[in-house]
Amino acid sequence: MAISRRTFVAAAASALAARGQQTGGRKIGYCIIGLGRISMNEFMPGVLKSDKCRITGLVSGHRDKAERVAKQYNVPETSIYTYEDFDKRMTSNSDVDAVYVALPNSMHAEYTVRSARAGKHVLCEKPMAVSVAECKQMIGAANAANRKLLIAYRCQYEPNYLKAIQAIRNGEIGKIELIDASFGFNIGQNEWRTDKKLSGGGPLMDVGIYCLQACRLMSGEEPAEVDGRSAVIDHDGRFETVEENLVWSMRFPSGLLTTCNTSFGTNTGGWFRVYGSKGKVEMEPAYSYDGLKLSINGKDATVEDHNPLQFTREGDHLADCIVDNKQPKSSGEEGLRDIRILMAVYQSCREKKAISL
Ligand code: NAD
Repeated sequence: MAISRRTFVAAAASALAARGQQTGGRKIGYCIIGLGRISMNEFMPGVLKSDKCRITGLVSGHRDKAERVAKQYNVPETSIYTYEDFDKRMTSNSDVDAVYVALPNSMHAEYTVRSARAGKHVLCEKPMAVSVAECKQMIGAANAANRKLLIAYRCQYEPNYLKAIQAIRNGEIGKIELIDASFGFNIGQNEWRTDKKLSGGGPLMDVGIYCLQACRLMSGEEPAEVDGRSAVIDHDGRFETVEENLVWSMRFPSGLLTTCNTSFGTNTGGWFRVYGSKGKVEMEPAYSYDGLKLSINGKDATVEDHNPLQFTREGDHLADCIVDNKQPKSSGEEGLRDIRILMAVYQSCREKKAISL
């Protein structure tokens, strides 16, 4: 249907006005919980590029560092909180609409629940939590407080992923027969990621989850059965409580079979391949923050799109969901689905048998 420029501009202006009314004409304010690598190097710079959100609060255990970061992002010193008091003090701060939880995995549940109870929407890093019970608790707390909960699956908002999914749904590679995926790196000593109490598990929780997402997103199906095995090769103190290497397969209702591997002992790159009856979709790199390369049926199909950043997109998506009262695409339920599957993979590794879901 033809739409005149005037009608389009008027519709856009009225949408913006509606947005302004719901947010008091201002950007959605994020309070950052945890000033570590992902917050400082990726998410916060991503928010700076956004015209929908801004940084309005910080939670840190290091006051000096927080004050330095606050200056950089124009956050008032009164909006710097500690882990102990943030939820009590933040409730009355109307400049904070949402929090970004960027802490070790086993802390996601506590900080999500406390933030929701303080009346704030939550963008929580992946993996959602370290157990199914915790995920349910987080969803329950967000629902009870009528707040949005978004799990930081940045790839779900990334244009190469959207193009790959579209090509597959359009039948460009025929029926999906097999998928394989890999993501691993060689981890350093003394990382919280190798302490199960903080991480909930090894590479599967940290980066294997991207392979699982790739299989689920590309196929549009949920696995019916998983079968995994894990091992430690490097007995150098890093893998006392978590696996070093893990491979697992999944069987889907259509008959699709997928194989994935993940590692803290070797850099496998990070890629997935979807093999269809008529062709193939490949992405490599598939999980990095930038520079993803997509090929469809042997031809380069990469969307060269670096702006906005992946982190800007996910931050903006939650902002849109808050303003438009929509359920986030990568919701708490989506995070829970993955944790349920990852827990079944660990069970399969322990019991050395396939687990039905
Ligand atoms: P990091 O170690 O760099 O930062 C962790 C932050 O938590 C630090 O500010 C640290 O001070 C704080 N913290 C509070 N209590 C702590 C404790 N007991 N032990 C250790 N740190 C503690 O970690 P990161 O790489 O920023 O990862 C944080 C979260 O973000 C993890 O859940 C991780 O899976 C996720 N992550 C996501 C992506 C992505 O692409 N979406 C990438 C990297 C990390």
